[in-house]
Amino acid sequence: MAEPTYELFDKVVNLCKRRGFVFPSAEIYGGFRSTYDYGPVGVLLLRNVKDAWWRSMVQLRHDVVGLDASILSPPAVWEASGHLANFTDPLVDCKECKERFRLDKLDDPETCPNCGAKGSFTEARQFNLMFKTHAGPVEGKGAEVYLRPETAQGMFLNFKNILETSRKKPPFGIAQIGKSFRNEITPGNFVFRTREFEQMELEFFVPPAEADQWYEYWCKARYDWYVEHGMPEDKLRLRAHDADELSHYSSGTSDVEFLFPWGWDELEGIANRGDYDLTQHATHADTKLEYFDQGSGERYVPHVIEPAAGATRTAMAFLMAAYDEEIVNEEQRTVLRFHPRIAPYTVAVLPLSKKDELVGVSDEVLGLLQPHYMCDFDVTQAIGRRYRRQDEIGTPYCVTIDFDTLDDRAVTIRERDSMEQERVPIEALRDRLGERLGF
Ligand code: ATP
Repeated sequence: MAEPTYELFDKVVNLCKRRGFVFPSAEIYGGFRSTYDYGPVGVLLLRNVKDAWWRSMVQLRHDVVGLDASILSPPAVWEASGHLANFTDPLVDCKECKERFRLDKLDDPETCPNCGAKGSFTEARQFNLMFKTHAGPVEGKGAEVYLRPETAQGMFLNFKNILETSRKKPPFGIAQIGKSFRNEITPGNFVFRTREFEQMELEFFVPPAEADQWYEYWCKARYDWYVEHGMPEDKLRLRAHDADELSHYSSGTSDVEFLFPWGWDELEGIANRGDYDLTQHATHADTKLEYFDQGSGERYVPHVIEPAAGATRTAMAFLMAAYDEEIVNEEQRTVLRFHPRIAPYTVAVLPLSKKDELVGVSDEVLGLLQPHYMCDFDVTQAIGRRYRRQDEIGTPYCVTIDFDTLDDRAVTIRERDSMEQERVPIEALRDRLGERLGF
C-alpha cells in the first residue's frame, strides 16, 4: 500500500513543477529549504481554495464577518495568548548524524530515522516556534515583534471593535485568511508543513450554553465542505481528539484528516475553546471583552468554536485527491479531476489553428467568457496535445474554435472527465457552460 501512494506523491510533486503549480523558492540560488512559490497555475488553485472557503464561510452566511489583521504583533499579544510560554515543540538532536527531529513526531523515540543509531538523541529541549524580529532601526528590548504563528489572535483582539461596528451578536463569527509563520523544526512533505503558510480561520462566538451544539454543527459543516468541493469520502475522516491530546482550555477538538501518502494527517482542527482567549486578553489588556444583551440585561463572555484550516495544505490535498491516470487510445492520460470551483482554470479557449481567419472569432469567444470564468488561451501545438495539457492542470472544459465556426458560428465544448464533445452556437455558449458548471 505504501509503495504506490508514495509514487503518487512523487508524481504530483513533479507535475507541480512541470505545469507551473509550485516552484521551490529562490531556485536559481539553489533553493531555500522548505519555502515554495506558487506559479501561474498554482496561484489560481490556491486562490480558488481560499475563495471557496470565503464563499461558504462569509458570503453565503449572515452571521459571519471578515477581517484582515496585521501579521506583525507585539509580545504582549503572545504573552496573553500563551504562545510565548507554550507554543513549543520538543526538539532532539542525534549525536551521531547531527540531524534534528521533533520528538513528538518520531515513530520510535529511541531510534534516529536518519542514521538508524539507537539511544543517540540529546535530552529534548522546548523550542519556541514563533519568528521574532525587530521593528524600527534599534534592536533590543522594546523593539521586539513577532510574526503571527496563527491568524486567530487578530479576531480576539478585534472582538470589541467588530461587536461595536457590525451590529452582530452571538452567535456570530469572524473569518480571516492570511499568512502565518512557524519556525518548524522539521518542515517537509512538500507544502504540507512549511515555515510560511496560509491559514483560513473562523472564530465563532456563542452564548456559553450553546457551545456544544455549535461545536457539533461546525465539525459537520467543515467535513461537508471538503466533500462538497470534490474530496472523496474514502480519503477524508473526522477524528475526535482523545482526552490526553486536548489543550487544557479545550473541551473538545476534532480534526478533519486526509489520507496523505504517509497516512492520515490533519487538514483542519475544530476546537471548542471555551472563554479562554477572550478572558486571557481581557485580563492582560485590562479591558472588558464580553457581550451585553440590552434586551435581557444579560452580560457574558462568549465561548469560541474555532475551525482552523490550512489553505496551502488543503490545496495540496486537493491536488493529491484529484490526480488520476488512465489509458486512452493506448496512450496514458493524466488528469486532475478537480471540482470546477477548485480547478485553476475553468475554461480553456483553443483556436484549432493560429491562422489569421480564426483570430477575430477566437478573441470574441474569449471576450465573452473572461468576465465570468478564469480562462486559459492556447494556440500552440496540435489540438490533442493541448487537450492533454488542460487535462493535466484540471481544466473542466475546453472550447475549440475551428474553420466551420466561421460559417456556422458554433464552437465545440469538450468535457475533461468524459472527453465528450458538444457543438453549441457561440450565442448559447455562456449559458450552456453555466448550466454544466452550475455557476
Ligand atoms: P501540526 O500538529 O501539524 O503542527 P497544528 O495542530 O499545530 O498542526 P493548528 O495550529 O491547528 O495546527 O493550525 C491549523 C491548520 O493550519 C492546520 O490544520 C494546518 O492545515 C495548517 N498548518 C499549521 N501549521 C502548518 C505548517 N507549518 N505548514 C502548513 N500548514 C500548516
